[in-house]
Amino acid sequence: MAVQIRNVARDTYLLDCGRDPFFSTSNIAYFLDDEMPVLIDPGSGAAAAELLDGMSQMGIDLQKLSYIIPTHIHLDHGGGAGYLAQHLSKPKVVLHPKGAAHMTDTSVLVRGARLIFGQDFEQSLGQVVPIPRERVHVASDGEVIRLGKREIRIIFSPGHAAHHIALFDSLTNGLFCGDALGFLAESMPDIPFPVGLSPFDPRAYVQTIDKLAALRPEVIFYAHHGPRTEVDQLIGKVKEICLAFDDIIRRGIMSGEDDQHISQHILDYSSGLAQQAELPVFARVGISGYIQYYRNHRNNC
Ligand SMILES: [Zn+2]
Repeated sequence: MAVQIRNVARDTYLLDCGRDPFFSTSNIAYFLDDEMPVLIDPGSGAAAAELLDGMSQMGIDLQKLSYIIPTHIHLDHGGGAGYLAQHLSKPKVVLHPKGAAHMTDTSVLVRGARLIFGQDFEQSLGQVVPIPRERVHVASDGEVIRLGKREIRIIFSPGHAAHHIALFDSLTNGLFCGDALGFLAESMPDIPFPVGLSPFDPRAYVQTIDKLAALRPEVIFYAHHGPRTEVDQLIGKVKEICLAFDDIIRRGIMSGEDDQHISQHILDYSSGLAQQAELPVFARVGISGYIQYYRNHRNNC
């Protein structure tokens, strides 16, 4: 599918690479045009070649691209970063220190992907190409990267993944949140579900929500959805759902319930939020990491 490109804010472009065949989510990257242009969340290796074509057709001088910044190294966000680094001579790939090592030596990442997505995951998600060490920029929390007329601040945002970063953009007062502020489905655009895939840290996830809210962004650029300006409402909602999930799952574990019963309680709660056919899928996918975390920390529930 050809990449659809939209101007969504000043010198800020959304690159829609279509629906990911594996995750059934929209594969969205963002391009920040400036003296030192940036590509955020390039997506999977399968989307990378199309992304290059789409950007060329838009007239972007790819040789000028200075940074590629995956918010985290899950394959639907950063899987294609190595392919892009291989095909473009200049950009540095900016990564959290806990993610950087797995992108220069991808053996653990690939082994994990085979376990989760199957032996032939490359057919749907593309190759995971290692990034040469000298092309990686290891980020620090609060670091500011100047691009020209704008600067972006890197905010460590653990919870969804220990190696997750968010980016605050001075030109738009916008926050590129990756998966740190929940997942917005097309059919439920006002209900951000926490994405609690293992390994997940629900306590860090809520702390990150507060940390990102304190930045007072005017717009949130969601990774699988697009920009939204109802910032307080959406951040309030994701925190409310996180705390409710926490409470339901901890109580279930403390009373010795199995995963199926806990899932049912989550589903009962979620049914009160939205009446959608795919609700069971989101409710189930979003809690596997919660359950594992609280089973592992049972004495500290
Ligand atoms: Zn993720």
